[in-house]
Amino acid sequence: MKRPKIALFDLDGTLADYDGQLLKDLQRIASEHEPPPTLYSDIPYLEARRHVITSQVGWFLHLQKFKLGWDVLEIAKEIGYSISVLTKGPSTKHIAWSEKVEWCNKHLADYIDGVTIAHDKGMVYGALLVDDWPDYIESWLKHRPRGLVIMPANDLNASFSHPSVVRYDGSNIEEVRQRMIERFNAP
Ligand SMILES: [Mg+2]
Repeated sequence: MKRPKIALFDLDGTLADYDGQLLKDLQRIASEHEPPPTLYSDIPYLEARRHVITSQVGWFLHLQKFKLGWDVLEIAKEIGYSISVLTKGPSTKHIAWSEKVEWCNKHLADYIDGVTIAHDKGMVYGALLVDDWPDYIESWLKHRPRGLVIMPANDLNASFSHPSVVRYDGSNIEEVRQRMIERFNAP
């Protein structure tokens, strides 16, 4: 029997709209006397607010679905990949670990065969990775020369490019499908 081809899906910024919710929450508590908040700009007071926001019980659990990731998920299911979630467990927010698993049970029961919560995504085997974060993509590809990555687009990964990575921005779904079929059929 043919070995199943494993597709790994990230949660935050891929299947779950972490960035959208975070930005909304940062805007809600911003003062009119400060510049509009931006994501991942390494500004200490914004990072501190991000920490407070994402430490709230239930915050991860109530994240909305993120469409770009779900487009790719539907294709992976159609092609026949064995789908698993691969998410990073925040080292200090243990409640987030269980909320992430609960989120998967709530939204992904019909799609996935498993959930892996890892500190280092590079250690986890798969034929395909769907992830929005260039650092994790690079650490995963380092050990997977034949691996394919689909990267849901956001402002931060706009300049990242790599021959094994297809950046999906909602307009190139046929390119994504083609590359995923090729990877599925490769030995
Ligand atoms: Mg992510």
